[in-house]
Amino acid sequence: MIRLYDTMAREKREFVPQDPERITMYVCGPTVYNRAHIGNFRPAVVFDVLARLIRHTYGADSLVYARNVTDIEDKIMAAATAEGVPIETITSRYAALYEEDGGALGVTPPDIEPFATGHVLDIIAMIDRLNAKGHAYIAEGHVLFEVASDPSYGILSHRDIESMIAGARVDVAPYKRGPTDFVLWKPSGEDQPGWESPWGRGRPGWHIECSAMIERHLGETIDIHGGGLDLEFPHHENEIAQSSCAHRGAPLARYWVHNGMLSMASDKMSKSLGNIVTVDQLLAQGHRGEVLRFALLIGQYRQPLEWSGQLIAQAKATLDGLYRTAGNAESDEIDQAVVEALSDDINTPLALARLNAIDDPAVLKASAALLGLLDSTADEWFRGGADGTIIEARIAERAAAKKARDFATADRIRDELKAEGIILEDGPGGTTWRRE
Ligand SMILES: [Zn+2]
Repeated sequence: MIRLYDTMAREKREFVPQDPERITMYVCGPTVYNRAHIGNFRPAVVFDVLARLIRHTYGADSLVYARNVTDIEDKIMAAATAEGVPIETITSRYAALYEEDGGALGVTPPDIEPFATGHVLDIIAMIDRLNAKGHAYIAEGHVLFEVASDPSYGILSHRDIESMIAGARVDVAPYKRGPTDFVLWKPSGEDQPGWESPWGRGRPGWHIECSAMIERHLGETIDIHGGGLDLEFPHHENEIAQSSCAHRGAPLARYWVHNGMLSMASDKMSKSLGNIVTVDQLLAQGHRGEVLRFALLIGQYRQPLEWSGQLIAQAKATLDGLYRTAGNAESDEIDQAVVEALSDDINTPLALARLNAIDDPAVLKASAALLGLLDSTADEWFRGGADGTIIEARIAERAAAKKARDFATADRIRDELKAEGIILEDGPGGTTWRRE
């Protein structure tokens, strides 16, 4: 039995799917206007583990998992203008890089990855319905959701109206009837991307795309809606308002699952603060994708996680130990203690501790797969991938250090490799290596 902390209920609840043969999960995905940072991948990894757990518990075909790509947004338009290219150039580039970085972290792509611009007709249809039902109004070319028309507004975040007004960071648009009213559709200038609509040429606001794409691909009420805690208000509150008002009050999601934020130097990691690090930068520093994934899973997903070199080193050391135990074994049965840990609100710290306690290599291998870990054989892992490229890179780094008479660094590299079971042998033709 899986239990999940439901943000709306403010407690852990037993997970009972509407239909165990078609469990539906939606997670808010990236806005593709620049390279995502490691913090953006925490939800990708956490919900990847939840997807694996659901498939283990209910069957391989039991889950339909959708994660959207926001490919129309003002930041995208600004990036396209800055480069002098169409928005598609920006969005296709960064959507592909998001997929590539996720792949390096062992994230299985969701079953459905809908793009907002591919759903403009669905979006217009939903806005039209909200309008007809008296939940929206038109002002100065915009269509806005009227929050006062929805008595349930605030049901997720449990905020009072004052903090909602503060949290909505209201720009004082004079055409808004209420301060928390939000944009469903906005007008586009001639030089801006836009689509024809009953309200003139324009483009969708951000919140409506998720409601429209969930309806299109998963239905009116889904089992699990996930995302970062920073999306709880106003984004998810607005999704709920749009969807339930369009669907005669039907709830949008039965369980709301939010991950905590990643921080660096005790600030929330965000592009606007500039204190970010991207997956490709971390890989270029010699860290391996699986180590980064492990690091993201060390903390309980709802808690904030501080990203540091120490966290990565801890992940690396623990993972090395697990590979030593697993060796080159084939997968066998999954340890039930690991399943139980993950089933208790995705308790990855406990699951990792339980992995550490397994001494049967084949059981360890199978159990780690539930967290998307130990995908390689020990031989591949300690060689630095099947082709040994990481070891070759370390040898080149050591040669450069020796040439620069930096013998401390050269010795450190040799010692680090030795700790991983790799012996370097210097000869007249250069340095070769072998497994201990
Ligand atoms: Zn969303």
